[in-house]
Amino acid sequence: MIRQNLHTHSIYCDGKDTIDEMVREAIGKGFTVLGFSGHGPCAVDECAMSEEGLASYIRDVREAREKYRGQIRIFLGIEEDMMQRVPSRAPYDFVIGSKHFITVGGQVKSIDYSADESRKIVELYGGDFLAFARDYYEDVAKMADFPEVDIIGHLDLLMKFNEDGSFGSFTNPDYISCAEKCIDALVGAGKILEVNTGAVARGYRKDPYPERHLLSYIRKKGGKILLNSDCHDRKMLDCCYRESLEMIRKSGFDSMMVLTKDGFREAPLDEFAGKALVP
Ligand SMILES: [Zn+2]
Ligand SMILES: [Zn+2]
Repeated sequence: MIRQNLHTHSIYCDGKDTIDEMVREAIGKGFTVLGFSGHGPCAVDECAMSEEGLASYIRDVREAREKYRGQIRIFLGIEEDMMQRVPSRAPYDFVIGSKHFITVGGQVKSIDYSADESRKIVELYGGDFLAFARDYYEDVAKMADFPEVDIIGHLDLLMKFNEDGSFGSFTNPDYISCAEKCIDALVGAGKILEVNTGAVARGYRKDPYPERHLLSYIRKKGGKILLNSDCHDRKMLDCCYRESLEMIRKSGFDSMMVLTKDGFREAPLDEFAGKALVP
């Protein structure tokens, strides 16, 4: 059976745990594949790793890979923000590309900071949530042309504080059309989209990203997906995994991507364990 998480943060960025603590927790929870994806250095992101931190992060992940060889497969990744791409893909086994910020009215605003901050963004768009969504998805779609990016992080992050629909409707045809155009570009470029349970772990949402309609659309377009917990706290390493696998199955998927020493490969959904393999 496969149990994988490729989206993991540590004390080198905004996570709570050391690399070693995270690995031990993963082994205890029966994970077979663990990828680290610290926030790459980014001038506007106060959660990002410093250049010095990045060097220590890479060293720690490599050490852990050797130390725990035979118990769990460990991969070195990075979560790059669109605003500051990695200078070279070379040290990394995989790269997650994410959009965390939007520039509006000459200001750089965080999309995943708080409901208040999201409200301010919509205000800067003159109260027009759809204009925000259009800009957001047009930007995310640009990652189709980022060769270093394997996985697109939290596709509809702009809905983080909007599960109650207070900013905009998930079913508005204009909103869906912006999101679908973005999915078309990313799937067309062979990017992997993640089902991300991070906002569930932090209590912001009940469902993972992307929202169900979009997940079904990804399936319809033949898109490739995987399941990640965007883990910032080792206790939440497998947060919502069982429920998410169910949602993925109901959306029509029969496979997900898994990272191996030879790169990504597609594996049947039945091979993925929802429950912890070790009691
Ligand atoms: Zn992120
Ligand atoms: Zn993340």
